[in-house]
Amino acid sequence: MNESEPGLDRYVRQVRYPPIGEAGQQKLSAGRVLVCGCGALGSVLANTLARAGVGMLRLVDRDFLELNNLQRQVLYDEADVESGLPKAIAAQAKLHQINSSIEVDAVVVDVDAGNIAELAEGMDVIVDGTDNFETRFLLNDFAVHSSTPWIYGGCIGAEGQTMTILPGETACLHCLMQAGPPPPGTTPTCDSAGILAPIINVIASIQANEAIKILTGNRDAVSHVLQVFELWDNRIRQVNLDGLRQAARCPVCDRGEFAWLSGDRGSRTAVLCGRNAVQLTFPERSSLVLATLAEELSGVGTVVYNDYLLRLDVDEHRITVFPDGRAIVQGTEDLTQARTLYARYIGS
Ligand SMILES: [Zn+2]
Repeated sequence: MNESEPGLDRYVRQVRYPPIGEAGQQKLSAGRVLVCGCGALGSVLANTLARAGVGMLRLVDRDFLELNNLQRQVLYDEADVESGLPKAIAAQAKLHQINSSIEVDAVVVDVDAGNIAELAEGMDVIVDGTDNFETRFLLNDFAVHSSTPWIYGGCIGAEGQTMTILPGETACLHCLMQAGPPPPGTTPTCDSAGILAPIINVIASIQANEAIKILTGNRDAVSHVLQVFELWDNRIRQVNLDGLRQAARCPVCDRGEFAWLSGDRGSRTAVLCGRNAVQLTFPERSSLVLATLAEELSGVGTVVYNDYLLRLDVDEHRITVFPDGRAIVQGTEDLTQARTLYARYIGS
């Protein structure tokens, strides 16, 4: 290692790996990655990429921490849950402790057709730490439209799968899932099937490794297969995707139809998987002053707030409101009831 580059010392073991080398490490330092979702997969992704010295990470997550996250979301601890902070903010603080030499940007929003272009601007790679196919199809649309590589990952139970999409070269998510996202209720969810932590670590580690290959200019090493792991029954499957892009006649790759990116498909108001909760979003973003809202609600129920969110406990419901007006209503999976509660306490 060159003494004139003391900043590289911490990466010496990685630099010694021939496909990385000093040149690769410098490319990592110049690299920018959008980490979409800071839950289970996103924790491992952000942790691994920060330690590897990726120069800039933008963390985007819509949610706040709960105790039952700690079983698999390895960036967080009990103090983070206690803090009441959104995941992206807690993750940013933790990553700064891990590697203070990189830039970490945290954004507390739900990724949607209206903000993806801004969030992903200038990013070299997008990694999937989301928990739903609507967001993944949006990421896929954006990635193909902007020729940004992205790495899909998803886990349920003890099974997980991952696939790397190099727009214009490999098949995309829509080529693979030609019918689009599975309709709600047709596939197991983490609510019905549960989720084990080890599969998260396997899938997110592969995703991070693929990102490192792309960032260091080792595109020829990128996987061209769908990798499927089932850790309980010890099954590993690799599905060759060569030729799929040509065969699929994919609306995204072939015809440039971006239904999720244009907003024609996808709705952001949704029942949240396994949470007994509903997320409400509104096309017109507001800019709530949380301190004022807290004062107004002080007679209604128990209110706590910080710079990022306000939480109102009233009867058996907990309503968490973000400054842009988005809310997560816990204690119901009924969209109408959630909307009614929102209108009653926060405003219509
Ligand atoms: Zn495609």
